[in-house]
Amino acid sequence: MSLIVQKYGGTSVADVERIRDVGHRVAANRRAGHDVVVVVSAMAGETNRLLSLAKDMCPDPDRRESDVLVSTGEQVTTALLAMCLNHGEVPAVSLQGHQIRIVTDQAYSKARIQSIDDGRIRTELAAGRVVVVAGFQGVDGEDNITTLGRGGSDTSAVALAAALKADSCEIYTDVDGVYTSDPRIVPSARKLDRISYDEMLELASLGAKVLQIRSVEFAKRYAVPVHVRSSFTDTEGTWVVAEEASMENVLVSGVTSDRDEAKITLVGVPDQPGLAARVFGTIADANVVVDMIIQNASASGTTDLTFTVPKADFRQAMGLVEKLAKEVGATGVRTAEDVAKVSIVGLGMRSHAGVAAKMFRTLAEVGINIQMIATSEIKTSVVVDAKYVELAVRVLHDAFIEPKESAA
Ligand code: ADP
Ligand code: ASP
Ligand code: MG
Repeated sequence: MSLIVQKYGGTSVADVERIRDVGHRVAANRRAGHDVVVVVSAMAGETNRLLSLAKDMCPDPDRRESDVLVSTGEQVTTALLAMCLNHGEVPAVSLQGHQIRIVTDQAYSKARIQSIDDGRIRTELAAGRVVVVAGFQGVDGEDNITTLGRGGSDTSAVALAAALKADSCEIYTDVDGVYTSDPRIVPSARKLDRISYDEMLELASLGAKVLQIRSVEFAKRYAVPVHVRSSFTDTEGTWVVAEEASMENVLVSGVTSDRDEAKITLVGVPDQPGLAARVFGTIADANVVVDMIIQNASASGTTDLTFTVPKADFRQAMGLVEKLAKEVGATGVRTAEDVAKVSIVGLGMRSHAGVAAKMFRTLAEVGINIQMIATSEIKTSVVVDAKYVELAVRVLHDAFIEPKESAA
């Protein structure tokens, strides 16, 4: 008998009918003799609704109470699914993060899982019950409710699969796998049969929200094979797995974009040792994560320092940078929020020259100006004007990804 962890995202539990469908799927797995742990998200749109309710109450809601509020979305769906299963004579029990003890740190709204106690789940499974777990939530060392960041149910599921040494972890969503690009932006995107943990990590961190990045980190660390598939069909999805030799043959496996960053330029900074350390040290101390950085060649003893930060942290970063500009005698500060990052990702980039050049040429041919560039072993990212983001993704997809027909 095998143990399966299945996670159902918001659209898969959007209403009572959809939850019934999930119930049928789970029941079929039980009939086939498997032990099943189900992780559910809140109903589609519910987390957003709860977050805006908090904002209606006060502009800057208390972070602890905000997590108490948003975690309720998942409690609703656990109870409904467990009811549905019990009604269908599939014994089931719902459990919240604190009942299991999914222990996290105290970083409300973006907490990290530190440990999972598998005792209660194992007892319930041994008693023949399906265990329905609330995704997205945990509890800190002092019993406060925490949440794991948007899309965090993916991480709940993979972390549980790792803790329980499950035979498989299935992520059910509204697309039938991981595609070469977001199918909503690129209709010709095609489904990948398999993708390596490292490529999926890059795609997730560069904007492909189909899996939360931390879920992929867990999957890689504990070697959990993850099967991303649709809850609307029975077709085989995409396997996220350890790298295989043949994967290096594919130059680019995905094109992705991210509109969640803003750009800040410190203009006319004295070109002296220690300045970058001071600027980025101050920003890091405020817990703001800087992504891309460029520094212009120094002319007449001054330089420009440009970098990007998450839009959510933009106001805070701006406040710090304006203060720093005065202190270090910079000429001024320029900002742009209407930017987007477009990236290509592929293991094959490790061993092939000229990929970045082809990317820049492709963008130049349609008149898109590149504002910043960052590369790693398996990705190249550029920052462009936000109004060109979809065009950039499409032309890069055309240039680098084999069309569906000729794909192997
Ligand atoms: P769920 O609610 O099931 O967790 P999400 O909305 O979080 O679902 O993730 C699924 C969505 O991710 C898809 O509807 C799709 O638009 C988007 N997406 C972005 N990039 C990709 C990609 N490369 N492959 C598949 N889906 C992607
Ligand atoms: N409900 C949470 C969200 O909308 C967690 C999840 O769906 O994974 O972000
Ligand atoms: Mg999601």
